[in-house]
This record gives sequence, C-alpha cells and structure tokens, in this order.
Amino acid sequence: MYNFNYVRPASLADAAKAAAGADAKVLAGGQTLLPTMKQRLAQPSDLVDLGGIAELKGIKMDGNNLVIGAMTTHAEVAKSSVVKGAIPALAVLADGIGDPQVRNRGTIGGSISNNDPAADYPAGLVGLGATVVTNKRKIAADDFFKGMFETALGAGEIVTAVSFPKPDKAAYAKFPQPASRFALVGVFVSKSGNSARVAVTGAGPKVFRQADMEKALAASFSADALKSVKQSAGGLNSDIHGSAEYRAHLVGVMARRAVAAAG
Ligand SMILES: Cc1cc2nc3c(=O)[nH]c(=O)nc-3n(C[C@H](O)[C@H](O)[C@H](O)COP(=O)(O)OP(=O)(O)OC[C@H]3O[C@@H](n4cnc5c(N)ncnc54)[C@H](O)[C@@H]3O)c2cc1C
Repeated sequence: MYNFNYVRPASLADAAKAAAGADAKVLAGGQTLLPTMKQRLAQPSDLVDLGGIAELKGIKMDGNNLVIGAMTTHAEVAKSSVVKGAIPALAVLADGIGDPQVRNRGTIGGSISNNDPAADYPAGLVGLGATVVTNKRKIAADDFFKGMFETALGAGEIVTAVSFPKPDKAAYAKFPQPASRFALVGVFVSKSGNSARVAVTGAGPKVFRQADMEKALAASFSADALKSVKQSAGGLNSDIHGSAEYRAHLVGVMARRAVAAAG
C-alpha cells in the first residue's frame, strides 16, 4: 500500500539530489506529512528523511541575528537558553505548540514549509521580519508565506534555517483551539527602533500584517494605543470554531495582550 523509496542522506547536497525528483518529498518531524500519507492525501515516490543531516540542526547567534536550523524541534526552541536570551517570545511561541509529542517531533522547517493557516511560527517569522534560508537562496518572511498551505519554495527546495533579527521587544499571544492547540487567532508583535510589526495567524487564509496596528504602535508602543484600531472581519476565516467576526474581535484582544506582555 505504502509504495515509496525511503532515503536518509547524511548531507544537504545528497538530500537536495534525492529531493529533486518530481514526486519526492522531504520528511522532517512527520507530524503533518505522515498522517497526510496515511490518509492517502499525499503519495510521494521518494521520502527524503532530513533527520540525519547535522548541518540542519541547532541554534546560534550570528551577530545580532538568532539563527535556528530547519530540523530544530519546537521543544528545543522552547527550552533553549540562547533563544530565551535573544528573543524570549519565540521560546514562548514554541512552548505553546500542540502537545509534548508534537513539540518533540515537529520542526521549525516543517512548520513553515507546511504553512498551515493556523500555525504559530508564521506569525513569529513575519512579526520579527525574519529571513528564510534555503539550499538555494534567502527569502524574506514577508514574501515566503504565499497562501493557504502555499509558500515561495520551489520544487525540491529545502529550508535550511531561519534567521531572526533581535528586536527591542516582542511577545506572542494566542487564543488556542482547545483540541489541537493550533491558533484560532495568534498575534505576534515586535518593536525595533521606531517601527513595530504586528503579524496575525489563524484569523485568515494565511499570516498577515496588521498595518493600522503597526502604525499606532510605532507612534506609541502600548496596549492603549490599539484600543481604537479595529480589525475588519472581511476575508477572515469562518468555521465551526468561530465566525469571522469573532476572529476579528480576537485579533484586537490578542494584539493588546501581546503588547502588554512585551512590556
Ligand atoms: C496534534 C497536533 C497538534 C498541533 N498543534 C500545533 C499548534 O498548536 N501550532 C502549530 O503551529 N503547529 C501545530 N502542529 C503542527 C506541528 O507543530 C508541525 O509543525 C507540523 O506538523 C510540521 O512540522 P514537521 O516537522 O512535523 O514536518 P513534516 O510533517 O515532516 O513535513 C511537513 C511538510 O513540510 C515539508 N518540509 C519539512 N521540512 C522541510 C524543509 N526543511 N524544507 C522544505 N520542506 C520541508 C514536508 O515535505 C511536508 O510537505 C500540530 C500537529 C499535530 C499533529
């Protein structure tokens, strides 16, 4: 029934070669890909396991940037003293993903490549103005998340790391869907110099920046500054978990909570 070739290369170069096949797929934590295969929604010809490639793992500072390897798990990010020292909001975000099993298997590279509209990391990347590094190029987070489950990655392109510039302040607030812990709405805010970023996940078909809130926070980085800024329900998701209007309301609440938490 499961008819595919499994390979576990030891280098990025070998993984790139193996992933170049038309129906090949790379395997990271398998938290999304394996259930998708079990349901026959994906039937790759080749499964290229990235788990044996040392250069894809790890967390380090590169000047003022925090660099997290694609195969770094959510649990490793959550407990990392390097992350907590540079951008504690990212450790909080990672610690709030799913459950212990998901956090110990799921990876940052898998999460952003999958680009679930309710995933947490897309808000962190866009909210911090991060850069996605692949085996071929560098992509600004603002250009990476293209649509629901769609990214700027080309066929066979592999995410190797994500580079986050260290902000002055940042925080993430999420209203979780109680069963999965995915974000019904999650808002990541950051302040760097005189500018602010506000990135919203869960509310729409993909992560988006809230320009009116960014303007208000650039003038005054305080929860009060957001009180008069309203999120429109137009274009937001509406499903059994919550209407578009409810999600729009939550965007305001989560944004104010995030700014208050950022201090
Ligand atoms: C019960 C449950 C609860 C969850 N709750 C949350 C939650 O609260 N918040 C949240 O954000 N997420 C949540 N997730 C998602 C989870 O955290 C993982 O991030 C997600 O499953 C994908 O990561 P992975 O490493 O398992 O990737 P995989 O499942 O291995 O791969 C996912 C996709 O990405 C591709 N891919 C993987 N790595 C790379 C790479 N380096 N370069 C290019 N393409 C790549 C694969 O080919 C595949 O198409 C949940 C998942 C489950 C099962």
